[in-house]
Amino acid sequence: MNLGLPPMTTALLELAFDAGSPVIENTCVSFGVVLLFIQRGNNLKITNIHNVPETLVKLAKTNDYSKNADYSVTEIISPPRIQRLRKIHFKQMQTDVSDMLWQMLGTALHNVAEKSQVENHINEERLVCKIEGVTLSGAIDVQIVNGNKVSVIDYKFCSSFSVTDIKPEWETQLNIYGWLINKVKGLGIDKLQICALIRDWTRSKLLDKYEYPKAPIQVLDIPVWDLKKTEEYISSRIRLHKESKLSSDLGEELPLCSDEERWQRPTKYAVMKKGAKRAVKLFDDLEVATKVCNEKKEGDFYVEQRKGEPIRCAGNYCGVADWCSQYNKEVIANQNGGSS
Ligand code: SF4
Repeated sequence: MNLGLPPMTTALLELAFDAGSPVIENTCVSFGVVLLFIQRGNNLKITNIHNVPETLVKLAKTNDYSKNADYSVTEIISPPRIQRLRKIHFKQMQTDVSDMLWQMLGTALHNVAEKSQVENHINEERLVCKIEGVTLSGAIDVQIVNGNKVSVIDYKFCSSFSVTDIKPEWETQLNIYGWLINKVKGLGIDKLQICALIRDWTRSKLLDKYEYPKAPIQVLDIPVWDLKKTEEYISSRIRLHKESKLSSDLGEELPLCSDEERWQRPTKYAVMKKGAKRAVKLFDDLEVATKVCNEKKEGDFYVEQRKGEPIRCAGNYCGVADWCSQYNKEVIANQNGGSS
C-alpha cells in the first residue's frame, strides 16, 4: 500500500515502468521475432496546478506506452473492475503533473538503463504471446541470459517498508514475465529479482533498532513458480477479465473487488485510558476488548471502535472510485447510517 502517495500517483505507479519505456514488441516464436517501436498519444487529462516547468509537463504528456496486445501483464494482475472502469473512464480521469513524479522518474530510469549496454543483458524488451485466444504482453526491464537460462530483473520504486514485506503482486508479475520468456524464447528461468529503489531511504534510520534496508537500492529474490502453475494462473486471470468486459458490454454489474483488492482495513476495538491518546491495546473482537476493559482495576478505561475501511477505495488509490457503484453504494449506505 502506498498510503503516503496521492491517489492518482498510486494508480499511475501500477503502470509506472511499463508506461515510460519505449515499446519493443517481440511476438511469440511461432510468429517470428518482430520489433516494433510505437508511441501513442495520451488521453489522460494532465493539469499543472503547481506551475512546474513546461518541459516537465511535456514529458508527462508524451509519457505514454502501447502494450501492443489485448492485455498487459499488469492489467491481468489488477482487479477486473478497476481495469474496466479505467478503460471506460480514461478520458475523464485527471491528474496533476506533480503527482506524476515517480512515473516520470521511471521514464528517466528506463531511458538511462537503455543506454547501459552490458554483455548478455537485454534491456527493456516487450514480449507478446497468445493465450486463451488473446495476446498478452509484458515489458521486461532486464534479462540476463546465461546459456539456455535467463534471470529477470524488474526495477521498482518502493518504500523501505515494501522491502521487508515483498508484495504478492511482484511475485506474480515476475513469474508471468518468466513464463513469457519461456514461451517466446524457450529459455528456462534461473532467477527472478526485484531491484528495489527505495524512495524514502535515509541514512539516519540505519541507526534505529528495527530492521531497515542497508542501502537505498536492494536486490530481492522472488520465488520461482512452476511454469504450469503460472500458465494456469494467467488463464484464470484472462478469463476473469474477459467476463468483466462481457458484463460491461452487456451493461451488467462488473465483478466486485474483493476485500484484499480493496485493501480492506478491518474494524478494531481499542481499550483506551481516559485522557490518553494512544490505545492500551487493540483487539479484533468487541467482546474481548470489553472484557479486558472491565478487568482493569485501576484507572478509567473505555472501548473505542476504530471502524475499518477499504483504503484503496476511500483514498481513490484505484483512480476510479468516482465511477464505482460498489464503493459508492457503500458510501451512501454509510451516510444513511446503515451498513452496505
Ligand atoms: S473504488 Fe474500490 S471497489 Fe471500486 S474499483 Fe476502486 S478499489 Fe475496486
